Amino acid sequence: MKGIVQQLVWAGAWAIALVTSVATAVQAQAPAADLIVTNAKVWTVDRERPHAEAVAVLGERIVAVGSRAEVELWRGPKTQVIDAGGRRLLPGFNDSHVHFSQGGSQLDSVDLKDAPTPEEFVRRIAEQVKKTPPGEWVLGGNWDHENWTPAELPTRHMIDAVSPTTPVFVNRYDGHMALANSAALRLATVTAKTPDLPGGVIVRDAKGQPTGALKDAAMDYVERVIPAKTREKRLRAIRQALDHAASLGVTSVQEMYSEYEDISIYAQLAEEGELKARVYAVPALSTWDRLARAGVRRAFGSAHLRIGALKESSDGSLGSTTAYFFEPYDDAPGTRGLLGPGMHPMARARGRMMEADAAGLQLCIHAIGDQAISTVLDLFADVVRANGERDRRLRIEHAQHMAGKDFERFAVQKVIASMQPYHAIDDGRWAEKRIGPERIQTTYAFRAFLDHGVRLAFGTDWPVAPLDPLQGIYAAVTRATLDGKNPNGWVPQEKISVAEAVETYTMGSAYAEFQEVDKGSITPGKLADMVLLSDDIFSIAREAIRNVKAVLTLVGGRVVWEKRD
Ligand SMILES: [Zn+2]
Repeated sequence: MKGIVQQLVWAGAWAIALVTSVATAVQAQAPAADLIVTNAKVWTVDRERPHAEAVAVLGERIVAVGSRAEVELWRGPKTQVIDAGGRRLLPGFNDSHVHFSQGGSQLDSVDLKDAPTPEEFVRRIAEQVKKTPPGEWVLGGNWDHENWTPAELPTRHMIDAVSPTTPVFVNRYDGHMALANSAALRLATVTAKTPDLPGGVIVRDAKGQPTGALKDAAMDYVERVIPAKTREKRLRAIRQALDHAASLGVTSVQEMYSEYEDISIYAQLAEEGELKARVYAVPALSTWDRLARAGVRRAFGSAHLRIGALKESSDGSLGSTTAYFFEPYDDAPGTRGLLGPGMHPMARARGRMMEADAAGLQLCIHAIGDQAISTVLDLFADVVRANGERDRRLRIEHAQHMAGKDFERFAVQKVIASMQPYHAIDDGRWAEKRIGPERIQTTYAFRAFLDHGVRLAFGTDWPVAPLDPLQGIYAAVTRATLDGKNPNGWVPQEKISVAEAVETYTMGSAYAEFQEVDKGSITPGKLADMVLLSDDIFSIAREAIRNVKAVLTLVGGRVVWEKRD
């Protein structure tokens, strides 16, 4: 493998030599490209050479980037040529935080995310129940009660009439709360007598009866009685997710809380040459010793599939009032949120992180509230103190609500902020009512992070948010909330530029998975993962970016998706 890479780097250097010397005389000695994309407006995300017109690909990798004339030298009789028609070409997007297999399953289950009223929520569940064979469950959903007036949590009583025998367990879109109907609660034997768990809440009515809403760790009561997914179901979900990613120009995904059964399917698809996106699979931290005992370290694997990072959640979410803050919620003064079940007891959490880190594995810790972020920074400092300095690329996933005092040490500790800009325009509709005017100033603080020298990686948290990277870039550069109430940006000082957002979504994400040498920019020697866009996001109005589509997606020089008119 190393030999091939060196040859390709050499080939790249050769291309440069060609164009700076007497090109045509030696042209015959250079290998011909398999593919040339020409007549494009290339934004390479390579600071050495940000602009270009054409790219040549040999095998899986880029061999030349330059003007049309420079790249034309790589054309041979069998070279496939794609005329980009003057459109914008970018490195493929790398989503640094997705729930990929789950997103794939979601594509054919009930979609409750935009149900504007409780009545519509019930109607959609009724429709899905009709389609569900006896014995199967209705799952997924991603409901959002913040869309409703008043924004009250749904209850099992709302849906029992339309689902008398089919168990229903539909989650809030942030994954930190779910609603069970009575059939599901019966199977789970959750009653008024069932106790809350550490890190979890059974929501109860005035008489102490469960309403069906379960928060964080309490969701386990129902999850453990849901029948296991079959391999065929997983395979179908993952294939759907891969097609969806390809259609959006997403060429790499970093899957949080990967299940090992899914990793086996990614491996099978990689063998068959059908893994249309590169996957970094990140299972739960609690399973760290499975990887450590096999000798796996960070970013272990092939260009198609890697493992070696681990995910843990330190708190919940803002929408479920379970994100963990220093001060109480403005609209729920009885709570500051709570640390997640993986943090109890703290000594065990710290011990696990230290052992996983000592084994060379990478840590990706979800932290949303300011105190959760602060706590994780403390834990990371303990890990480094115990195991010594090295290039470990510790990550905080989400990093949503920062305490002003923590930006500096985020940078000093070289922690990566893995963020999902779409959440800013989604939660931005109601975040102020929940945490007040002061705390929102350091919320989704893209600008402040960059100005402090913190490395950012962008993603979506799909299916929590749409997988489409253009929606994320739109969100990062406009901060225009989905309700249309902040056309000039919600907390506008935290906007970033289009170039910064693109770099974060490509190089930033590649760095976060130790792949910046192979991915993240259109540079000779790197993997030929690229996306051609319908419109030039650098020159159109920022508001129009959300309407831009991927028209061609290349992974390793292979067309995995093409828009047909
Ligand atoms: Zn997530």
